[in-house]
Amino acid sequence: MNSCVFCKIVGGEIPKKFDYVDDEIVAFPDINPLRPIHILIIPKAHIEDFFHADKETIFAISSAIKKLIDKKKLMGKGYKVTVNGGGAQEVGHLHFHLIAPVGRATTE
Ligand code: 5GP
Ligand code: ZN
Repeated sequence: MNSCVFCKIVGGEIPKKFDYVDDEIVAFPDINPLRPIHILIIPKAHIEDFFHADKETIFAISSAIKKLIDKKKLMGKGYKVTVNGGGAQEVGHLHFHLIAPVGRATTE
């Protein structure tokens, strides 16, 4: 049985309102937002982390992020995109964070 929480979200086992969805990607709000906008962008397929993702997956994720930047009108507001990996991640299913608004040179 797959106990991955993000696979459960992809599969509809945990109900979630998606900010974005296509054949490969879904995006949904982080349960513990660091800023008013904090969206997680993940592949539908279970991929452990950034290092294990192929270029098609990274391309699909970046395209989704750009659409979300547009949809959420973040140009000029300041946003950041982060990804934790190699053991720094809490959830072992690849996810990018889109966080806004943020000022310049934040490192959190
Ligand atoms: P990480 O530290 O792995 O990069 O970030 C994991 C993120 O997933 C955290 O920001 C955490 O709040 C979020 N998260 C963990 N479990 C859930 C969940 O069940 N639903 C949602 N929407 N976010 C979650
Ligand atoms: Zn998973």
